[in-house]
Amino acid sequence: MADNYLERRMEDLRSGRLRNAAAPAASPARKGEIRVSFPARRVLVTGGAGGIGLAVTRAYLKAGCKVAVMDIDREAGERLAHDEGVRFYNTDISDRDALENALDNLLTAWKDIDIVVSNAGISLFQPLVESDPQTFDHIIATNLRPTYIIARVWARHRRRYPLPNSFGGRMITISSTRHMQSEPGTEGYSASKGGIASLTHSLMMSLSEFGITVNCISPGWIHTGDPSILTESDRNQHPSRRVGTPDDIARVCLFLSLPDNDFINGADIPVDGGMTRKMIYI
Ligand code: NAD
Repeated sequence: MADNYLERRMEDLRSGRLRNAAAPAASPARKGEIRVSFPARRVLVTGGAGGIGLAVTRAYLKAGCKVAVMDIDREAGERLAHDEGVRFYNTDISDRDALENALDNLLTAWKDIDIVVSNAGISLFQPLVESDPQTFDHIIATNLRPTYIIARVWARHRRRYPLPNSFGGRMITISSTRHMQSEPGTEGYSASKGGIASLTHSLMMSLSEFGITVNCISPGWIHTGDPSILTESDRNQHPSRRVGTPDDIARVCLFLSLPDNDFINGADIPVDGGMTRKMIYI
């Protein structure tokens, strides 16, 4: 039996009595729910009409932001504009002129952008011997070059119109754990995502003068379809014992967008249930 105050407190802690007494009321938040609110930040999400991008779009809308989406999927984008009030640009971001025109239009309408989530991408895999350089170029033009073009247009705009913007900005790029590990036949995709990881720290340096931080999220397996098709082995191979969801990525975007989180800069954040740290010997 403890005979002084500190020892009694330690005993209480170990037995769980103290934790129970001090425990906050159970949160009514649903697992996976995102609870953040921002001032009405102006957010651009590429590929924001489907998959991970759609979850990102909805997370920022729910947090009180204005969201513009650039996406090649006209039907999904127009539905999103009509039902949820996003500003939609039906843009193929691999087309430099189309992307720059859409960006000019957005900057004219909004005067500036606060947050960019450069998310749109294609996963095209081809066995090396059957692959062709045109497809390789197309993957790079879709997955890598638009992030550079968006940053360039944004920086030129900030240089020309140095608006007082105490928040500065956030650029969040979406790479993949495939920039660190590979299966056969993924040359174009891996190269594009490795490019994103490197471009991220390069842009961090260049956009620093505008107060914009640049970070990269590297998703692992993020299931964007019907979760009922996932198997036990799909789940259990992950140290986190589940497959990722689009909201897993959206929550990291919100976290990086918090005003105080401007000391996270140039990072590559894997969101992969632990798969890239799992050692495998067969
Ligand atoms: P997705 O195919 O479900 O959605 C991609 C979105 O981008 C769609 O709305 C699509 O219409 C749009 N898009 C595609 N090409 C475009 C173009 N040329 N111009 C404009 N919009 C275009 O893909 P996702 O799984 O949501 O992936 C989103 C990002 O996350 C991609 O960059 C992808 O490489 C990356 N990623 C995904 C996973 C995963 O497991 N889902 C894993 C690692 C990385």
